[in-house]
Amino acid sequence: MTRDSGTKPAAVSAQFDAVVVGAGFSGLYMLYQLRQLGMSAKGFDAAADVGGTWYWNRYPGARCDIPTTDYAYSFDPELEKEWIWSEKYATQPEILDYLRLAADRHGLRSDIEFSTTVTSAHWDEGENRWKITTDRGNEIWCRYYIMASGCLSIPKSAEIEGAGQFAGQVYFTSQWPHEGVDFTGQRVAVIGTGSSGIQSIPLIARQASQLTVFQRTPNFSIPAHNGPAPAERLVQLSDDRDGYRHAARWSRGGIPAEPTDVLGVTASEDVRRERFEAAWDQGELFGILGVFADQGVNPDSNDIVAGMIREKIRLAVDDPETAEALCPKDHYFGTKRPCLDTGYFETYNLPHVRLVDLRKQPIIRITEEGIDTADQSFEFDAIVYATGFDAMTGALAAVDVTGRGGLSLTEKWAPGPSTYLGLMTAGFPNLFMITGPGSPSVLSNMTVSIEQHVDWVAGCLRDMRDAGFDTIEPTALAESGWDEHVRDCAAITLHPTASSWYMGANVPGKPRVFLPYIGGVNAYRQACDDVVSQGYLGFRRTGRGGDQCRDGVIRSMQPDVAMVLEIMAGLGLPPMETLSAGDARALMAAAAAIRPPGPEVAEVTDGVMPGPGGDLPYRLYRPAAADQGPHPIVVYFHGGGWVLGDLDSDDPLCRDLCARSGAVVVSVNYRHAPEARFPAAAQDAFTAVQWVDANTVSLGGIPGQLAVAGWSAGGNIATVACHLARDAGGPRIAGQLLINPVVESEMMRPSYAENGDGYILTTALMRWFWDHYADPAERGDPRAAPLLGNLADLPSACIVTADFDPLRDEGVAYARALDAAGVPVRHVRARGHTHTSLTMVGIVISGAPVRAQMAGALADFFPAPVTGAVSNSSIG
Ligand SMILES: Cc1cc2nc3c(=O)[nH]c(=O)nc-3n(C[C@H](O)[C@H](O)[C@H](O)COP(=O)(O)OP(=O)(O)OC[C@H]3O[C@@H](n4cnc5c(N)ncnc54)[C@H](O)[C@@H]3O)c2cc1C
Repeated sequence: MTRDSGTKPAAVSAQFDAVVVGAGFSGLYMLYQLRQLGMSAKGFDAAADVGGTWYWNRYPGARCDIPTTDYAYSFDPELEKEWIWSEKYATQPEILDYLRLAADRHGLRSDIEFSTTVTSAHWDEGENRWKITTDRGNEIWCRYYIMASGCLSIPKSAEIEGAGQFAGQVYFTSQWPHEGVDFTGQRVAVIGTGSSGIQSIPLIARQASQLTVFQRTPNFSIPAHNGPAPAERLVQLSDDRDGYRHAARWSRGGIPAEPTDVLGVTASEDVRRERFEAAWDQGELFGILGVFADQGVNPDSNDIVAGMIREKIRLAVDDPETAEALCPKDHYFGTKRPCLDTGYFETYNLPHVRLVDLRKQPIIRITEEGIDTADQSFEFDAIVYATGFDAMTGALAAVDVTGRGGLSLTEKWAPGPSTYLGLMTAGFPNLFMITGPGSPSVLSNMTVSIEQHVDWVAGCLRDMRDAGFDTIEPTALAESGWDEHVRDCAAITLHPTASSWYMGANVPGKPRVFLPYIGGVNAYRQACDDVVSQGYLGFRRTGRGGDQCRDGVIRSMQPDVAMVLEIMAGLGLPPMETLSAGDARALMAAAAAIRPPGPEVAEVTDGVMPGPGGDLPYRLYRPAAADQGPHPIVVYFHGGGWVLGDLDSDDPLCRDLCARSGAVVVSVNYRHAPEARFPAAAQDAFTAVQWVDANTVSLGGIPGQLAVAGWSAGGNIATVACHLARDAGGPRIAGQLLINPVVESEMMRPSYAENGDGYILTTALMRWFWDHYADPAERGDPRAAPLLGNLADLPSACIVTADFDPLRDEGVAYARALDAAGVPVRHVRARGHTHTSLTMVGIVISGAPVRAQMAGALADFFPAPVTGAVSNSSIG
């Protein structure tokens, strides 16, 4: 990191409780909190003054992009009263003045060594302390090393051939001269059209005689509509400041907002337009990012918003070719940080402003006079680099940090950063990061996230002191669990599809991983609080107070599954087992009527087949037109505890299995309890398999390529049909796909104790199902409890079990027992899922990869390659 010249303090050699690197929003508040704890602390910053981001980024037009009413500290009520923001989006000088005032109000400068870069930090295992060194030769020993060094504080260097050759003036937006720059009469080049470029270009254009903008990737930007601070927010703040700040802390993005439940894909054209225009007029990032509830996860919904923004760009820019070049088309809206601008697109209508699209005309080199592209040589008086930052990890990796056993942070993070809560990383005791990778950070209003982090760290240090601990460090298990949760949260969104700085894609050689936590400020805060309330779960703490390790994972449920459970809990529905069978069926049907339909398949037809107790309705799903067949056939049995469910209940899942596997799916509605008790459902299943086998050709199937599948109780009768077919000498079944199947009636395994309450299928409901289906004396019959039967010579199996399912352990036991009996078995663990979540096609996105595995298993049952399967990536 470069150091800003300023007064040169003498070298320091001393001991402190804590060293804080950085004197921006984070460092200042951290120093304040350390003082409150009565701890000694030393701050360092390479800058010559406080301010961090707002010290360095002095380019014309530099402003915040979160309304300043919200982009501010909340810890100091007096400061809040004293400071009145002049604009909706304050300028850099105003924010810097604010931070100076904050520092002065609390006398923080005296604790900070400015113009000093921390160069190394080494953990001394004998001393249980960090040894910190700086570029001024300071050597500091401290118990706690706190990196408040910023997420966007290490500018990317200009990686263009010949960058050092240019004889004119060179400027970086991130290190702008304090005295400002006058471009009057100059020929200026701006390289980069991220936020800094988009903010500065209109202002540079006002002075320059010629402005040429070199654009590699067009970015989405919306007008900021800057002006006075928003009146309604000011009123809310003056009426109930604490309530407002509380709402911000528990919001998704760090600004109070009512999340919408309007889906872009189902909203009418009028509603879409109305919501979009309202967000456009409001001019706030979280507004335009939240036009529809599904725009961050559903490509079709995202396209609606992106398309409307592109329309606005085309309206703003006169020259159609320039307009087209300015329209982002290579990433989903929001997957790169969108920008707020003031007259950015209109700037290209000025006669002296020109856009060079580097996709068509790449830069070859920088010369003494200017820039050579593939087509043209340009001459300039000045080049402005607005080329962004080595985000989130840059400042952490710029210091030579070694932890236990000489482990280097950069080596540990070579495959990508790994943290617990974005706050700490295993192997580096007492090293805290403020807004580190794996925390909401750059996806949030950062002042809210910064205060939350600092408060958490301060609370942690206080608790350690009170309990007599000197060191704290996350466990490997806790950290890998959190990393996985961070990935899970990103995986259900469109974000990983973009080559963004969130993904490290702007820095050559940086691993492509999604760096921030996208689960929301509120969900993140809850996780941090839960860690503390569970006795610092996932941390080892040592000292006079002993050696305490509470190992564990704080979040292991898939985020969208957790969200569905939360929504369902909020509905206050009566427990299913308190209803009559008829009312429970009506409730299921009502829920089925409002969910997404599942993917398109070539053909869906309903029919009936003869059954032992009368006709059995069935629904056939064909993956491709009949003349493109024949296809293998899968006979499917729905879930519902032998009591509930029908052809509609599992329709989206059947469509999904059909589309993914390329097999014809025949879903059979068997007789239900209590009207028809055990063994009616099992008999119907076997009869259905026999009928489908006998009618394979007319159904469009391939003779000999028949499998069964079922979910829950449907899995029970699917496998029982396999037992019966084996015993009867046919039909030949190629494979069985059993999704969270019921295979015994005991309800005694640990998964019942762990998951018997709170995850939709409860122990009480399972008991209700069994009571409806079979007498206690019948429940040991292998046709009710197939785990107890003879498992030899059964068809190949794929058994799916879900982590948060009471039936998990019996499914695992069945897989093991089949394997022991010599049956080829594939066990798919649905990590972080519940009994029902895999069936929620189009709602629980994290279920899609598991369903892809199920379809793969189905395809593997059949010898020949299946035709007509659609690409898995196109199914939600
Ligand atoms: C132009 C711009 C606009 C932004 N606008 C917004 C916005 O509107 N809303 C929002 O939420 N966020 C915004 N951000 C993100 C912004 O970085 C954070 O909001 C916030 O200012 C970060 O504060 P910080 O104290 O954590 O880090 P910083 O403000 O980045 O401060 C870190 C400090 O650490 C110092 N440092 C780093 N490494 C060392 C070292 N080894 N030795 C010594 N000193 C070191 C740096 O010199 C720097 O001064 C913006 C960022 C930029 C670049």
